[in-house]
Amino acid sequence: MTSSHDPHLNLGTDPRVLLATSLNRFVEHGPDEPVTRRVRELFLRRTELSRTELAKSEAADVADLQGLSIGHVEALFSIYDDACFAGFLSHDLPNGARGKPSFRFSQRMTSAAGKTTRRRLDRAGCESDPFEICEIAISIPLLFGWSATDPGPPPRVSGLVCTDRLDVFQRILEHEILHLAEMRAFGDSSCTSKRFRIVAFQLFGHLTSKHELRRTPDPALAHSGIRTGDRVRFEFRGERHEGRVKRITRRATVLVDDPDGREYADGGRYQKFYVPLHMLERID
Ligand SMILES: [Zn+2]
Repeated sequence: MTSSHDPHLNLGTDPRVLLATSLNRFVEHGPDEPVTRRVRELFLRRTELSRTELAKSEAADVADLQGLSIGHVEALFSIYDDACFAGFLSHDLPNGARGKPSFRFSQRMTSAAGKTTRRRLDRAGCESDPFEICEIAISIPLLFGWSATDPGPPPRVSGLVCTDRLDVFQRILEHEILHLAEMRAFGDSSCTSKRFRIVAFQLFGHLTSKHELRRTPDPALAHSGIRTGDRVRFEFRGERHEGRVKRITRRATVLVDDPDGREYADGGRYQKFYVPLHMLERID
């Protein structure tokens, strides 16, 4: 059965109108089914796929977001766009606004976990025909300030308890996606407005617009000179281990030779440890 309301059949219609219609519909009814869980599953499945393609690269620990790239942010964004807005967040607008937003990781944002901004740019030599681009920035110190293995209570983001970093990341992105949708549909957006709060609740179950996240310690202090590729020594549950640093975020991912460990792309078998940087001692 085809429906005349299927937005895919109305590509000629102004995407702003369609976005405004969906936002208003969410205010009234909410989505047909909870979006967040479904998006999480789709994202994990897709990332799982790319993991197979990359032949067991170390982008392995997906829920902890090890190896997170802008490509992952784009993938997650487009799953939300399809699931919530029939892809209309990515359509160019008749007012010259570009479709897909650009994404950026920020090392310097330490009070806001995410930020959505619009910029009107003049085309060279043609000031009467400006175009607009949107950018979503994600704070790395806040996103990586907590890990599911940390002791103590997990953080609440948008009023929801997060079980892992992917949860944190989803809450942050959901909030920014709503800002983006409102900006595109209505020209501006505020997360203190009633409409924003209702849609955030109906669509994603968000209870507040606040994020309670710790930030990572100053990376310059934390790294204590240890770099990716260094051979290191550390102690875990009373046992000494030696391995090589594969990645550094707030903690280091260290691969230790282990004949029973998982096989990696370089043919070696390793056991993987996440070690706070101050517990590592460099060898050589
Ligand atoms: Zn906001």
